[in-house]
Amino acid sequence: MFPSRFDLIVAETISDAVQAKADAGEGGRFLAGGQSLIPMMKMRVAFPEKLIDINRISGMDAIERSNGHLHVGALVRHADVAASDAAFGAIVAAAPWVADPLVRNRGTMCGSVAHCDPEGDWNSVLLATGADVVARGPGGERPIPIGEFVDGAFTSSLAEDELVVGLRIPVPAGRSGGAYLKLERKIGDYATVAVASHLELDDSGAIAAAGLAMTSVNPINTKVVDAEALMVGQQPSAELFAEAAELAAAAAEPRDDVRGTAAWKRQVVRTYTKRGLAAAAQQAEGS
Ligand SMILES: Cc1cc2nc3c(=O)[nH]c(=O)nc-3n(C[C@H](O)[C@H](O)[C@H](O)COP(=O)(O)OP(=O)(O)OC[C@H]3O[C@@H](n4cnc5c(N)ncnc54)[C@H](O)[C@@H]3O)c2cc1C
Repeated sequence: MFPSRFDLIVAETISDAVQAKADAGEGGRFLAGGQSLIPMMKMRVAFPEKLIDINRISGMDAIERSNGHLHVGALVRHADVAASDAAFGAIVAAAPWVADPLVRNRGTMCGSVAHCDPEGDWNSVLLATGADVVARGPGGERPIPIGEFVDGAFTSSLAEDELVVGLRIPVPAGRSGGAYLKLERKIGDYATVAVASHLELDDSGAIAAAGLAMTSVNPINTKVVDAEALMVGQQPSAELFAEAAELAAAAAEPRDDVRGTAAWKRQVVRTYTKRGLAAAAQQAEGS
């Protein structure tokens, strides 16, 4: 299948890309890895008049730690995250589960975040770990907390003329661990159900911070805030994680579809929440 006609603009700098998008208005789309946009264009569910390719812009391909944060540039591919020594916890756990090796070599973490597919893996991970999406528009740069960025299925709070230039994810100062458990029908498939877990422990071994988020069981990636609140200040235990799992199952609104029944998916949420939190706690205790 062929996409409809479009003009290609190859941006050499961030300013050029932002200006091109501002000029193009609604008819313009940034092109990063193309692993979501190009299939959508070929299926004719997206028909941008102007594609603004950001791949030649230098300085956006690093994933590194500085000032207590993990910084992920807009051209960091899923495979770069999987190979990175700077990533941690749930991020490390999730990277090999995104799509398949071919898609991971081209697709970008920021493109996935910007795309806001409720079946996408990264936004759940970022809801669990906490993150700012760094957006650049004609007026300058602004951080957008991930919880405010994800606005709906395939919609974000990014302005029409803003480019995501990177992600800023806080690196836990103390002992921490994370997990991403994903059930998929076959390699490269989107999640039937996935759960991202993140725990930080204080000196007494109690939970100082907790993050829990789910993929593919709600209309958007969902942070389970009441389970997170329940865990903070408590010692990690199987009983506590079972209680958190009940809250996660209650917050999930899966549907019956080709991937399975709603009741079964809710049970997977329960199981993966318990297992993921236990794995995160074990990792934190050993760190
Ligand atoms: C076969 C297949 C299997 C897949 N399986 C999974 C999976 O299991 N899990 C998963 O999470 N994803 C999966 N994906 C999607 C994949 O992760 C994409 O790489 C990702 O969704 C989009 O990243 P991209 O860099 O390819 O973005 P593109 O396709 O280039 O762009 C996607 C959208 O985001 C916008 N955009 C991109 N970059 C920016 C930016 N820096 N600032 C603002 N807007 C931007 C574009 O304008 C476009 O609207 C799969 C894709 C394929 C083809």
